[in-house]
Amino acid sequence: MRSASNELRENLASVQERINIAAARAGRRPEEMTLVAVSKTHSAQKIQELYEAGIRHFGENRVQERETKLAHLSTPEAAWHMIGHLQKNKAARAAALFDSVDSLDSIALAEKLNRARQEFLSQSSAKGAASVSSTHGKPLRALVEINLDPEPAKSGVKDDEASRLVEAVQSMPHLELLGLMGVPPYFDNPEEARPYFRRLHELRDSLRSRFGAQALPVLSMGMSHDLEIAIEEGATEVRVGTALFGHREMA
Ligand SMILES: *Cc1c(COP(=O)(O)O)cnc(C)c1O
Repeated sequence: MRSASNELRENLASVQERINIAAARAGRRPEEMTLVAVSKTHSAQKIQELYEAGIRHFGENRVQERETKLAHLSTPEAAWHMIGHLQKNKAARAAALFDSVDSLDSIALAEKLNRARQEFLSQSSAKGAASVSSTHGKPLRALVEINLDPEPAKSGVKDDEASRLVEAVQSMPHLELLGLMGVPPYFDNPEEARPYFRRLHELRDSLRSRFGAQALPVLSMGMSHDLEIAIEEGATEVRVGTALFGHREMA
């Protein structure tokens, strides 16, 4: 039997190859794409192995899960991304446990995160706390999550609410708003996700006419089954779970 770590390394090599091929087809450089390894439900041991293999971005969708695994991990150079819906009452913990909130979806949440990051920064500098990640000591990176799915229960803000949220976050010194994130509906044929990725890209471009030509450089879109299409449509970050770690146990 192959060891778990060989399997992870093979998975990583094949995801990187998929990224390279998609980038080449789109006339882009693979270095323009950040691979975020989505480690929700997977063990600290597997995460550590991917870190040793060179991965520097990880995504979790629950504050509690990040907290539980933290004690079993040493990832000082990694950036940890919160990619799931964040409840306001967990903002303070999230501001201390994550380097980026990729699922920012309200002004109220942004205000809570901004305040919590400031408190976290002043406490950790007073204590000289050991850093658990690469960006502690800096503003919290944030992406606005756009709702790409017509199903009303899905998370994220509507296109026409994005501008107000982006504008509000401009005045929050402990948040650094770098772009947009989106999850299209699931299609068996990933080609059908293309119009949703394109819409996210176009929304970013239209926000640039208001916030500046360099604003919002990050487009986080594309997952295990549709990352090629997302890269062709301009993704700068892909969030990949299953293709790296294998299937998740049902939570
Ligand atoms: C789980 C998850 C992913 C990864 O999905 P895979 O299909 O396993 O690659 C990406 N983004 C978000 C927001 C997720 O919740």
